[in-house]
Amino acid sequence: MTRKERYAAVLQWFSATMPAPETELHYDTPFHLLLSVILSAQCTDKRVNMISPALFKAFPQPKDLAAAEPEDVLPYIKSVTFPNNKAGHLVKAARMIVEKFGGELPSDIDSLMQLPGVGRKTANVMLAVVWKKGAMPVDTHVFRVSNRIGLTVNSTSPLQTEKTLTQNIPAEMLPDAHHWLILHGRYVCKARRPLCGECGIRLWCRHYDKELKNKTD
Ligand code: SF4
Repeated sequence: MTRKERYAAVLQWFSATMPAPETELHYDTPFHLLLSVILSAQCTDKRVNMISPALFKAFPQPKDLAAAEPEDVLPYIKSVTFPNNKAGHLVKAARMIVEKFGGELPSDIDSLMQLPGVGRKTANVMLAVVWKKGAMPVDTHVFRVSNRIGLTVNSTSPLQTEKTLTQNIPAEMLPDAHHWLILHGRYVCKARRPLCGECGIRLWCRHYDKELKNKTD
């Protein structure tokens, strides 16, 4: 199977089985999505969704959060991982949005990455989810699943995976492909025990073909 055939088959399967994938983070505005994505670093979406309604209510706009101190934010986010660091990042990011970007969330990767707490992955999430741009955020699930399936080969970094995926997936499909790979990694192609026996793409999966096919057939 060529790489092109593998990509085509896998994308076709995801398109048919998950036609309208969405982020599992709850949000009402792009600004609030940014807060949730920052909070979700090394934390679960479920945990972030538990605390975000009160946070959003307390700080509806960037200017509200910009006027606060990290200590004001801490009580709302104390149950997520690294709350002290994240409280600081949220306030500083809101201040930069107000002071440098006129209160509006920037929509290009370079500007987004200037915001405290926002790395390349978070910036790409914003581009893909909010503006449906041809961006591929690579988290641990995307990195692992792409490698197992064979969409990437011996990738050594998230950036390398991002480049390979963006070169091989049509730009208009990238926002959906990002969700497909994350959701597949969360619920099927799990880190420790991938559920290959019930995986719909095993026919085109390099890991299954090399490691498991002969044992289970
Ligand atoms: S067959 Fe197994 S390794 Fe391949 S994508 Fe499915 S769950 Fe992951």
